[in-house]
Amino acid sequence: MTTRRANFLTDIIDADLAAGRVVRVATRFPPEPNGYLHVGHAKSICLNFGLARDYEGTCNLRMDDTNPVKEDIDYVHSIQKDVKWLGFDWSGEVRFASDYFEQMYAAAERLIRQGDAYVDHQSVDEIRLNRGDFNRPGVNSPNRDRSVAENLELFQAMRDGGLPDGTCVLRGKIDMAHPNVLMRDPLLYRIRHAHHHRTGDAWCIYPMYDYAHPIEDALEGITHSICTLEFESNRELYDWVLDRLGPWNPRPRQYEFARLGLGYTVMSKRKLLQLVEEKRVHGWDDPRMPTIAGLRRRGVTPEALRDFADLIGVAKNNSLVDIGKLEFCVRQDLEKRAPRAMAVLQPLSLQLTNWPLGQTDLLTIAWKTGEAGTRQVPFGREILIERDDFSDAPPRDWKRLSLGKEVRLFGAYFVRCDEVLRENGEIIGLRGTVDLESRGGESKDGRQPAGTIHWVDATHAVDCEIRLYDRLFTVEQPDADGDFLPHMNPDALQVLQGQMEPAAAELPGGTHVQLMRVGYFFSDPVDSEPGKPVWNRVIGLRDTWAKTPGRTEGRPERKKEQSEAKKDAVPKKARAQWRAEKRAATPELAAAYGRYVALGLDADAADLLTEETEVVAFFDAALRAHPNPGSLSRWFLNDLEGLRKGQPLAEIAFDGATFGHFVALLDGDRLTVPAGKQLLSHLVAKGGDPVALIGELGLGKVDDSDAVVAAVDAVLTSLPAETARFRAGEQRLLGVFIGAVLKQLRGSADAGAVRQTLLDRLNG
Ligand code: ATP
Ligand code: MG
Repeated sequence: MTTRRANFLTDIIDADLAAGRVVRVATRFPPEPNGYLHVGHAKSICLNFGLARDYEGTCNLRMDDTNPVKEDIDYVHSIQKDVKWLGFDWSGEVRFASDYFEQMYAAAERLIRQGDAYVDHQSVDEIRLNRGDFNRPGVNSPNRDRSVAENLELFQAMRDGGLPDGTCVLRGKIDMAHPNVLMRDPLLYRIRHAHHHRTGDAWCIYPMYDYAHPIEDALEGITHSICTLEFESNRELYDWVLDRLGPWNPRPRQYEFARLGLGYTVMSKRKLLQLVEEKRVHGWDDPRMPTIAGLRRRGVTPEALRDFADLIGVAKNNSLVDIGKLEFCVRQDLEKRAPRAMAVLQPLSLQLTNWPLGQTDLLTIAWKTGEAGTRQVPFGREILIERDDFSDAPPRDWKRLSLGKEVRLFGAYFVRCDEVLRENGEIIGLRGTVDLESRGGESKDGRQPAGTIHWVDATHAVDCEIRLYDRLFTVEQPDADGDFLPHMNPDALQVLQGQMEPAAAELPGGTHVQLMRVGYFFSDPVDSEPGKPVWNRVIGLRDTWAKTPGRTEGRPERKKEQSEAKKDAVPKKARAQWRAEKRAATPELAAAYGRYVALGLDADAADLLTEETEVVAFFDAALRAHPNPGSLSRWFLNDLEGLRKGQPLAEIAFDGATFGHFVALLDGDRLTVPAGKQLLSHLVAKGGDPVALIGELGLGKVDDSDAVVAAVDAVLTSLPAETARFRAGEQRLLGVFIGAVLKQLRGSADAGAVRQTLLDRLNG
């Protein structure tokens, strides 16, 4: 049950446990209750609760409700429901950041008393302006040196409520010239006369996230505080807050992982809220939404979402995940659980002229072929088949019904079409005959019809509403260029009146079925009524967005293969399995895989390089330009994949041949590895000729130590204050110097040499 999947976080935890730094792993999932959770949150939930489960630790559910304006109790409830539904339970009660407001306030007073915080009366705009930026140090606030007594009094006044919003703020007193802009006297508290959904009007000052979050973690004894990458530079502030307010046992540490971005949808709560408020979807739980509530209502199971989280793993680089991966997990899960039934979405009537009038045959058909569990399916004189399953101009390899030809009606009889009925040229019905000897779908004389199609009996079929869902947006990155609304897919919901076999129509709301040859469906738990089912299509039987021409019949061989592979399928294999499936379906990928292995690449690299045909084309072009598969694959998989962040190769600014030339320069020792990385990121963003760029960007190898010494001296001269602080013992500044020197040398020097030269100069 506990499939502990190794990733950089488990490496950290293993090391912490081994060194005794952590006794018991404690994580938390801290949503802000300002919207419904989405599939990105599902990833974070699976990660945090999964680590707690795997290490027999704890995971708290904490509402990060420090911003009264956008939060709501409805969201608090929906979040709890979603976490439970995903299969997780939190340790103890649900926590609320607002429960710690009093402690946070006391901690702020302590900072003031320690000389670590002050009340600032500059306006928000002034504060922003005076903060400087990456190239320009900030300017101290005129209020920075207020006395402790005055600060305490003013902070109390902020709390007491007499001051309007925006009058003043509490700021940490750190360093207005700090290289990390977030450390330039950050805001800790602001005045906000707003009603809070839990604390009511008790407070009119609210703590900022960067101040509140570490305190919440520390008060709860969290050991590993996991958040998404955009908080990487906030970590320094997180540590500052904890260090000033400690000691803590355990002392929490923050770690960042890549947020999940999915193609063909949007994931920011703000945008999802906009879709809901502007009624572009039918609510947070609309099955087109990437919310957990939407996916649940559509019929995606918690198991499928957990498999998906495992499949994509935990990375340190943000990237866009192929939505095909989610669809793959959903399909794989439903294939296991869903019984098969029949419904016809666009009916065409077939009258069987030799079937006795008024007679019904009740056929017993298994819900799943080869498994226990059957239902009765009525068969009579009028049968409905799918309009698409008849052709009056069939292509040569037509495997469905056509005039004069015979097909098998699944689980029932062989039928032949004898006559096509038309009105104004349109086909309005068919007449045919049934082989009365073929009951159960096998003929007496061993004859095999061209194919098997699904059907329902017209007299007994039940009307049902069929909702076909598709991707919510027509482009992979709808919010790439600002306004995402124009990219909404107008066909993301299509409603049809279908005809369903009676036994399936009686299944209760919230049941999954595979409608044979149509897709996986889920009876809508909200809109289905007894006798009036509404069926949501969860997903098609195969990836219809992949370029597979035409519709194909079931794939018995591949299905067998798949279910055999599944027996020992552990989640960590799922991604590779996904690629294996894709290769099995795409001869071009399979051939490339064979070629790469023959060229000496290891199976893992060959596997990764054959995930997409565009990667194969790119890599082949690179190989033609520079036939060194090993270096090419290392630079491709380790560097280019990270840099392009899921962007299609066709959209990056250079081609495979140029990539080959680039790697040739490295193999020819014309570039250091850091300079190579820099050149590659330039190529990805802007393109150009690698050889010319080496000159233009000054990236050629700097072997002569004179250049390093000169750069070191220039940097130290330009940073006299830092140099003095380093000499007075502030060792951590070394990193700043190294960075500045490397910047000056444009990454073309060896960092080890730079460090040594710096130390020689600084200590000499
Ligand atoms: P959004 O940007 O959608 O509004 P958020 O980060 O503001 O999301 P929170 O409620 O603060 O939403 O998120 C709760 C937790 O879920 C945080 O730890 C956050 O890092 C994580 N999380 C949010 N979005 C994603 C995502 N796309 N992938 C992975 N984790 C996410
Ligand atoms: Mg947030």
